[in-house]
Amino acid sequence: MNIITSSSKASRGKLLLAAVFFLSCALLSGFALTAPGARAQGRQVDPAHARQRMVEQDLRGRGIRNLRVLQAMSQVPRHLFVPEGLRAFAYEDRPLSIGEEQTISQPYMVALMTELLQLQGNEKVLEVGTGSGYQAAVLSHLAKEVYTIEILPALAEKARENLLRLGYAQVRVKAGDGFFGWEEKGPFDAILITASAPRVPEPLWQQLSERGRLVMPLGAEGQPQKLVRVRKIDGRLRIEEVTDVLFVPMKGAIEKARP
Ligand code: SAH
Repeated sequence: MNIITSSSKASRGKLLLAAVFFLSCALLSGFALTAPGARAQGRQVDPAHARQRMVEQDLRGRGIRNLRVLQAMSQVPRHLFVPEGLRAFAYEDRPLSIGEEQTISQPYMVALMTELLQLQGNEKVLEVGTGSGYQAAVLSHLAKEVYTIEILPALAEKARENLLRLGYAQVRVKAGDGFFGWEEKGPFDAILITASAPRVPEPLWQQLSERGRLVMPLGAEGQPQKLVRVRKIDGRLRIEEVTDVLFVPMKGAIEKARP
């Protein structure tokens, strides 16, 4: 560059100015990589790279060990399941708003619940609470058949369209109250409820196959919730508490049914 080879006083002054300019730019652009404001505008965030970081740090780094789950979550484009304005946050470990006062769970929680289902690849799975459809997409990488029910018709429709567009046509979405399950398609080897409820809805228990696993946040509205795994062994319920959680409450019949 001729500015560097020049030896005149004036040029040296320019050189100094240029150096200050370049240094400021470097500092500013370094800041832009980490500043939340810049990330919110979607600048410099490569989804595949961000996803890999999420899998390593937030999932593997926090104890998710199941390789199939880690692999599934490194494939599903979470940023395409959240509203456009929140895409830059899609690979941060936190829940995000998906409209209709509902949220997509944080990636760690999706991974933990999926891991607890112990899927081998040949199962029939039911999800209650489709939301964005992200969790269903993850499940479809790990099981043979995935059915999902969403009580809010607008969310069910959006999730159905999105899943189709992203190549998850095999996921079956139904608009309705998941409390009643999907009897014609059952029994299910695994059931995942992604909204909290004070007890296991009876119809879902009936649709769980022998040795099946049901994972859900258990707790009455406004009360502390526990993530639990319920198993059906010899027709009887075995329950394991996993960790404290906070989910949106399940709506519909569960609110009216007896405690
Ligand atoms: N699994 C979702 C997030 C779920 S948030 C995802 O991956 O994005 C919980 C969802 O459960 C909300 O969309 C809410 O509308 C839905 N929901 C609440 N009660 C329900 C019910 N009785 N049946 C089906 N869906 C229900």
